[in-house]
Amino acid sequence: MPELPEVETLRQSLEPLLLGRTFTTATLHRRDILILPGDPPAGFSRSRSMRRPQPAAPTHLLVGARIQALRRHGKQMAILSADGRCLIVQLGMTGGLLLNNGAPGAHVHLRWVLDDNRELLFHDPRRFGGLRFLPSHSGLNAHWAALGPDALSISDEALAANAGSSTSCIKAVLLDQTVLAGVGNIYADEALHRAAINPRRPGNSIRAHEWSLLAAAIRSILAAAISARGSTLRDYRDASGAPGEAQTLHRVYGRGGQPCLTCGKTLKSATIAQRTTVYCPACQPIRPKQKPTSFPQSGGMERIRSQTRSGKVAK
Ligand SMILES: [Zn+2]
Repeated sequence: MPELPEVETLRQSLEPLLLGRTFTTATLHRRDILILPGDPPAGFSRSRSMRRPQPAAPTHLLVGARIQALRRHGKQMAILSADGRCLIVQLGMTGGLLLNNGAPGAHVHLRWVLDDNRELLFHDPRRFGGLRFLPSHSGLNAHWAALGPDALSISDEALAANAGSSTSCIKAVLLDQTVLAGVGNIYADEALHRAAINPRRPGNSIRAHEWSLLAAAIRSILAAAISARGSTLRDYRDASGAPGEAQTLHRVYGRGGQPCLTCGKTLKSATIAQRTTVYCPACQPIRPKQKPTSFPQSGGMERIRSQTRSGKVAK
């Protein structure tokens, strides 16, 4: 948390408020939430580096330039300024950006003032998130090229090509941001349930038709979650502080021990890929059924049943 739909919802809620505006000042309360070129790759908060961080300057926080675009790839968002600088925002587990409505705000690590006198706050109680300054937009493209393709538009072919040779379980493969960018624990469980794939199956056991089902499930579940403005379980809010509604769409996540909404059997909760994973042993068997190869026959049975029910052939 937050995953792609929450970051996209935040991006959409911020964009109309920030485009064309300028940050006039920025006050950084914690240097260790910011990564500058030359810093340890993981930043000072999580590295054992004993050297003192170089001081952050206003230019590293995009002060003085017009905001040109807000872009997103996977779970990362970037604020791009018209003079070529950019700042990647990573929300981690509890991070967020909030247009200040006058409240002082808790766990605020960075406070910008905009040229219309509003404030934008970066807050993050657990500090797994942070910001990364890049001096050029081309640096952003290179940074994001190291991630997998964006999950919202993942194609069947790209998913199979990136993940199909992995011997790791499919749940771990989906969480690997270098394979696929944007899916975390919630939407991995939801997509695997929708595609009827057991989370313990190795990537290299998934068949071609299952990659198509899985890619389609990922795209449609993420799109529906964005339409519902993201999932709010504890902390997540958009830029105006409003919670999302996508948690009402969850069919397996957080429902271990409850009935499967598809088949009625009890959903199982287990630790898979070091994460709590919920799945339906009946809908998502470890040994999948063969794909029906005699399609006309099964279609024929369905036609016969429809005919019996309605007295005529269903189209
Ligand atoms: Zn089921």
